[in-house]
Amino acid sequence: MKRRDFLTSSALAATAGLAGLRVAPVLAQDGAAGLAVARSFPVGDRTVTALSDGFLPIAADALIGITPEEFATLLADAHISADAHPTGVNAYLIEGGGETVLVDVGTGTAMGPSLGHVLANLTAFGTDPAEIDRLVATHLHPDHIGGLLGDGGNPFPNAGLVTQRAEVAFWSDDSIRDGAPEGVRGFFDMARAAVAAFGDRVETVDGETDLGNGLTLMPLPGHTPGHSGVMLESAGDSLLIWGDIVHVGPVQFPRPEVTIGFDTDKEMAAATRAKVFDMVATDGLRIAGMHIGFPGIGYVEKGHSGYGFTPAPFPYG
Ligand SMILES: [Zn+2]
Repeated sequence: MKRRDFLTSSALAATAGLAGLRVAPVLAQDGAAGLAVARSFPVGDRTVTALSDGFLPIAADALIGITPEEFATLLADAHISADAHPTGVNAYLIEGGGETVLVDVGTGTAMGPSLGHVLANLTAFGTDPAEIDRLVATHLHPDHIGGLLGDGGNPFPNAGLVTQRAEVAFWSDDSIRDGAPEGVRGFFDMARAAVAAFGDRVETVDGETDLGNGLTLMPLPGHTPGHSGVMLESAGDSLLIWGDIVHVGPVQFPRPEVTIGFDTDKEMAAATRAKVFDMVATDGLRIAGMHIGFPGIGYVEKGHSGYGFTPAPFPYG
């Protein structure tokens, strides 16, 4: 059987056999071949679907507060035999309650051929981008808004953009951009283009904000000034989509003090991570992480030192 046939038949089998997990061959926004991988699960009376954008290798030199030897040991402890951690990039679709909401939209063409699958993922499994009513951006980094910046323009003609006012203000500030390292200035340009792509359909909010329909935008600052999570509460069930609280799970669950070079404020990012870990571990709150291995859904548990992560059970049937 040719690989392509195998992929197609696998996709059919996956679609038919397991309602929770769907796989299909697709082309990314830059035309590279890839896989659309989606997993749906209920949260109360809503359906949440994790959409894989692909993965990004993150090596020890991207992290701060850990030696290369310690990094290698933690990856080996997690049974990962690579020099760099294959960090997943996920987005989350929320359906029900009379609207369709997408939380982040992946990298688009911004970050190379191992990524860029969120839009193909949506359409492969039957969601027309025109159906998206609101796009909530946890923050405006390229791996969260890059999907808006393809050659075809904003793929969501009917969606509004919801994000923190502090996030838009930071990336719109010329003096901050001018003072940023050369390699980071493109982030400012992409963030501005993403916001501009929505014209007058941008809703900026300040601090913790009830977005209606069971959704609350929760400020989780540090990684960026307006970085936020999305809390979904429905029919007694809940899920915290926490954005970038974690970038390298095998390192930052046991060592929450380890930060990443992309953090705008490293101390605040580490403090926010510590606070969120404590909250979700204490409350047994289910989380979804943009950079936790697909589908990135599970629970944080406090260990003897640091924390652990337990994936949510697979929803058979
Ligand atoms: Zn990110």
